[in-house]
Amino acid sequence: MAGVTISRAAAAAMLDAAAAAMPSEACGLLLGAGDRIERATIAANVASDRARRFEIDPAHLFAAHRAARGGGGTILGYWHSHPSGLAEPSATDAAMADPDGRIWAIVAGRGIRWFRAVPHGALHGRFDPIEAVFDPD
Ligand SMILES: [Zn+2]
Repeated sequence: MAGVTISRAAAAAMLDAAAAAMPSEACGLLLGAGDRIERATIAANVASDRARRFEIDPAHLFAAHRAARGGGGTILGYWHSHPSGLAEPSATDAAMADPDGRIWAIVAGRGIRWFRAVPHGALHGRFDPIEAVFDPD
């Protein structure tokens, strides 16, 4: 399972947004090209129970799809935080995830763990853990 590279700025944005959203879950999109995440967006979490779930603002998602068609970064995946500190996708996350190969990143505490949503994943039948490394630049 191929890993990804991520810019330090994108990782820092995710960690900062997760800390600021406490005790709610923060969420957003991972944009880039190929297996390289260049940018993490921060979306409004519009779930009704934001301490335990996330739902990316549909307007944010729509705008990102439109930007991608206009030459902006491709939507490589999604990130959200677990205020509980548990750094694994939950069964709820698995139920929400399409097995489309996209990246799912979970922020917990000061760390980020990385998964890919696949048809027969090791975790909840939906996610395989993947490696992420920082861009050298
Ligand atoms: Zn979750």
